[in-house]
Amino acid sequence: MTMTFQQTGTIESLARKIGIMGGTFDPIHFGHLVTAEAALASFDLEQVIFVPSGKPPHKKDYPVTEAEARYLMTIMAVATNARFRVSRMEIDRPGYSYAIDTVKGFRELFGPQTELYFITGADAILEILTWKNVEKLLGLCHFIAATRPGFDLHALDQVLDKLPALKGRLHFLEVPALAISSSDIRKRVAEGRPIKYLLPETVEHYIYKTGLYQDRKQNEEER
Ligand code: ATP
Ligand code: MG
Repeated sequence: MTMTFQQTGTIESLARKIGIMGGTFDPIHFGHLVTAEAALASFDLEQVIFVPSGKPPHKKDYPVTEAEARYLMTIMAVATNARFRVSRMEIDRPGYSYAIDTVKGFRELFGPQTELYFITGADAILEILTWKNVEKLLGLCHFIAATRPGFDLHALDQVLDKLPALKGRLHFLEVPALAISSSDIRKRVAEGRPIKYLLPETVEHYIYKTGLYQDRKQNEEER
């Protein structure tokens, strides 16, 4: 009963401007967390909901860690932040995860008045044309594209030319230069190199305790 209240009750009672941070989170790291926190502050969001993907359509080329482990790591990582939440929406949905379905799901949950802000890395926006129903998606939410200092905004010109509707919906957010990626963390674990200070300690301990990413063959070195 308490679980149900925390998962849905709290989310509903706070709604207005809500951030949605989708990702594989395999594992979640400080790049994700610092981006979410910056979005919260810069766009005056009431909360950021982390949405670990179920089966991600864009990441089929290496064995993605089972959803429950990625969900657990995400829960651990956000536990100390009162404005961060985690949703099981994509994990509990069968089949591949598409942003359009997730945004529609949150629209239903929060109602039409709530403004949804989909937070991604600017690199992900470069691929937006390949997303399912992107025109419709733009009608349902804003996008916050996290750029690192030095990111060349002109790289997005082509995308904006092909998708003019994106212009009014796309907001940029400069985040501190965090050259952290999940793939690098997985590689480090496999090679026995440190991952300390790249991600929350609880997540680091969970990775070692469960033996995640230890097996080189499970990693995408050959990618
Ligand atoms: P991988 O290395 O496996 O691609 P990742 O580190 O990019 O993983 P994802 O779960 O794919 O992590 O990322 C989720 C979202 O977070 C994406 O929108 C991605 O662009 C963004 N992101 C990832 N790393 C960073 C970072 N260091 N700074 C800002 N945004 C990031
Ligand atoms: Mg990535």
